[in-house]
Amino acid sequence: MMLNKLVLASSNTGKLRELAALLAPLGIEVMPQAKFGIGEIDEPHCTFVENALAKARHAARAAGLPALADDSGLCVAALDGAPGVYSARYAGEPRDDERNNDKLLAALSGHSDRAAHYVCVLVLVDSADAPQPLIAEGEWHGQILTERRGSGGFGYDPLFLLPDLAQTAAELAPELKNTLSHRGAAMRHLLDRLRAVQGV
Ligand code: IMP
Repeated sequence: MMLNKLVLASSNTGKLRELAALLAPLGIEVMPQAKFGIGEIDEPHCTFVENALAKARHAARAAGLPALADDSGLCVAALDGAPGVYSARYAGEPRDDERNNDKLLAALSGHSDRAAHYVCVLVLVDSADAPQPLIAEGEWHGQILTERRGSGGFGYDPLFLLPDLAQTAAELAPELKNTLSHRGAAMRHLLDRLRAVQGV
């Protein structure tokens, strides 16, 4: 898979910003799927990897280019891994970060176990029907606060505390979040795999 241009199969502006920054140093031209008029598709599967693969295939087919998709979410231990693959629409449609965070706080009220982790699965396909997609996964572990802190990032970041740093993901500088995050970790793994496949 030699790569100099790809379509990014996401319409989430927070994720697009982070993925574009992570890919910028590689000299790969990254085009958001909206540039091709490609919209969101259903994410009907119960695993991150299946949803990411569906998004990558859809974008590759519609754009005629290699496609990178991410499916990600927040898994909370005390909630048996919820909201998980439903993270974006936890509080229903239309998707709304504020309502999702309110619902999470309500679901965890009275719980002393606040452990949670973000998961990101990245899938890169060089064409829609490519038999060997590159797949990489990353996790980021933290704790869910009882109230929001910080204004950066997106999604559940204001509630996601990194105990070692005593900061939430929404309080971190964007570059630091990209270095530490599930998406950053998944991207590093993906690039290792890509280098191995390309033999560079
Ligand atoms: P997806 O677009 O179906 O992958 O949904 C991802 C959802 O997971 C987002 O809408 C957020 O609710 C949550 N999420 C994933 N990554 C992050 C992150 O880095 N910060 C905050 N929330 C995230």
